[in-house]
Amino acid sequence: MTLTSKTAVVTGSTSGIGLAIARALAKEGANVVINGFGDAAEIEKERAGIESEFGVKAVYSPADMSKPHEIEEMIRLAERTFGSVDILVNNAGIQFVSPVENFPVEKWDQIIAINLSSAFHAIRAAVPGMKARKWGRIINTASAHSLVASPFKSAYVAAKHGIAGLTKTVALEVATDGITVNCISPGYVWTPLVEKQIPDTMKARGLTKEQVINDVLLEAQPTKQFVTVDQVAALAVFLCSDAASQISGANMSMDGGWTAK
Ligand code: NAD
Repeated sequence: MTLTSKTAVVTGSTSGIGLAIARALAKEGANVVINGFGDAAEIEKERAGIESEFGVKAVYSPADMSKPHEIEEMIRLAERTFGSVDILVNNAGIQFVSPVENFPVEKWDQIIAINLSSAFHAIRAAVPGMKARKWGRIINTASAHSLVASPFKSAYVAAKHGIAGLTKTVALEVATDGITVNCISPGYVWTPLVEKQIPDTMKARGLTKEQVINDVLLEAQPTKQFVTVDQVAALAVFLCSDAASQISGANMSMDGGWTAK
């Protein structure tokens, strides 16, 4: 175990990639703050499961990532409970698919708030403590869409390009404080977020479900395979290790070759 006595806050960790990252960090000995929406009993089962499986402490923050004061309170909860936030994984995200001229304004605002601004708010709350302790790891879940675009995803692509820029900027600001800041850019990972966008993509492009999976999603990915949540989580664990202490400001693709095209 490499992260014993560290505390990790993982936003959007009641599902998908975030849950896999929280579990992987706990497996390495970190206490974790999990966050996100969902069925209360299911969330409690995940939280208690992390504690019993990995012998660490896990607490749940219900903070809504579209609300700056709740984000700040999540960081304070972690500091009150565990004494520090050493690892911050800004992962919460949503998707909405629509032609730009019909893109609902409230969806644009919500995606920018949750997928981009939430990382700014969590970072500004967590960085002072990391600086004081001269150690920190900030990992932002970006996307292949932080590097390239797809039609009908204007808000998501804008937010993810923004996350890549925020990552580089903060990395430079904290470079001499023992803090690294990186983003991970997965291609398509089979999670509820991807599953949920299939009906909208079917509508926007007039395709069947199978056509969306094979001709839109996996079409982008030269390996023709989905990335797994555990592969993303393993990269996050690596970025927290001493071996990764000189990786900062990087945008690490895990996309089956998508952005090599
Ligand atoms: P998911 O839907 O399985 O999980 C999203 C998580 O975010 C959930 O825990 C959800 O409750 C939480 N969340 C949503 N809105 C929230 C809010 N307002 N406040 C707090 N939590 C909120 O999706 P996922 O695929 O695991 O996505 C996680 C991240 O990975 C996102 O940032 C997404 O953009 C990114 N990503 C996903 C893929 C993919 O193919 N699945 C690819 C690249 C990047």
